Amino acid sequence: MQKRIALFGSTGSIGQQALEVVKSYPELFTIEVLTAHSNADLLIEQSKTFRPNMVVIVDDKHYQKVNEALSGLNIKVFSGEKALTEVAAMDHYDIMLAAIVGYAGLASTWAAIQQGKTIALANKETLVVAGDLVSEAVIANKARIIPVDSEHSALFQCLVGENPDHIEKITLTASGGPFLGKKPNFLINVKKDHALQHPNWTMGAKITIDSASLMNKGLEMIEAKWLFGLKNEQIEVIVHPQSIVHSFVHFHDGSVKAQMGLPDMKLPIQYALAFPERLPNNHKRYEIKNFPSLTFEVADTKTFRNLALAKEAMFRGGNAPCVLNAANEIVVEAFLKNKIGFLEMSDIIEKCLETIPFLEHPSMDDYVACDAETRKLALTLYK
Ligand code: NDP
Ligand code: MG
Repeated sequence: MQKRIALFGSTGSIGQQALEVVKSYPELFTIEVLTAHSNADLLIEQSKTFRPNMVVIVDDKHYQKVNEALSGLNIKVFSGEKALTEVAAMDHYDIMLAAIVGYAGLASTWAAIQQGKTIALANKETLVVAGDLVSEAVIANKARIIPVDSEHSALFQCLVGENPDHIEKITLTASGGPFLGKKPNFLINVKKDHALQHPNWTMGAKITIDSASLMNKGLEMIEAKWLFGLKNEQIEVIVHPQSIVHSFVHFHDGSVKAQMGLPDMKLPIQYALAFPERLPNNHKRYEIKNFPSLTFEVADTKTFRNLALAKEAMFRGGNAPCVLNAANEIVVEAFLKNKIGFLEMSDIIEKCLETIPFLEHPSMDDYVACDAETRKLALTLYK
């Protein structure tokens, strides 16, 4: 039977690669839902090709255009933020691919969890902001999360057939980004064009800046904590510039497993969509002889302070990761608009972590309020 996919964030980097995967296996997958924020043209083009049942264009300025372009195709068109959660709660799909970027992806993913859905999760911010509540809700509603983030897909693949109680620790690999080896006297002057040039991966703008600042790896530590039920002390990071080993699991008998492959998100996407199957493909292969030296080094958290700040927020728990995430979304946007420098991003995040009152056990409403409050504060800190 075909799996019916609800692709949230279909116009993004993950969304577009997911549609390539779907196209390669028409007998296995069909598209039920496509969503975009404002890229109406691409959403229309995707809808004409994949013929979903429903589409959501969040920005209602584009509703009329999308609705007219798709008229006569038997596709229901919705707009507005609320439509995302309403469509996510419907029972006409089998698996959600959560590929909206940032905090904006939380509400629809949360709605799908309440319905006991299976979610292929690319949107790491959902687990960073509210990982405790999300994990509880997954169990309570018999939902399931299968990671799409390459490091977490690697860990997940290493853990198939293993007892999670046998994990001693995990090591997340980080490419180091375009500024690996650079020091603050260099970073103080870098601009977005340079920061957007990732050596190994082509991704959306936000995650590319997060990779350059190592915030991405910090968010991934928190993501791993909730996905695999780990203690903070069990999570470590190592820089691996070739991005071939996607992460390691260390077991309590001393055995270490790694998952390897060329950096290509289509593999973790197809693995999550097809799980528990492993589908054949003809993507370019990793040839060991072409990579005679895989190297590993400790991350420079004195220079890349975002990683240290994220780790601190993880250990603090409560609403600290929510503050970290909200402040980070604001500073990344500001950096992308050339309003603040690369190193200022960490200063503002740190200030937010110091200023916003700590809550040990926030409710979902607390998280929503904390996100809004932090954004407001972060904006005043650079304006
Ligand atoms: P992109 O920026 O490329 O795409 C984001 C998608 O989300 C687009 O479809 C966009 O619509 C939509 N979107 C943006 N803002 C909103 C909003 N406020 N409400 C609803 N929809 C919105 O991001 P990526 O594909 O790179 O990343 C998506 C997620 O996957 C992120 O959480 C990222 O961390 C994670 N991830 C990405 C990887 C990658 O290789 N790209 C790797 C691992 C994880 P529109 O196009 O209309 O703006
Ligand atoms: Mg990743």
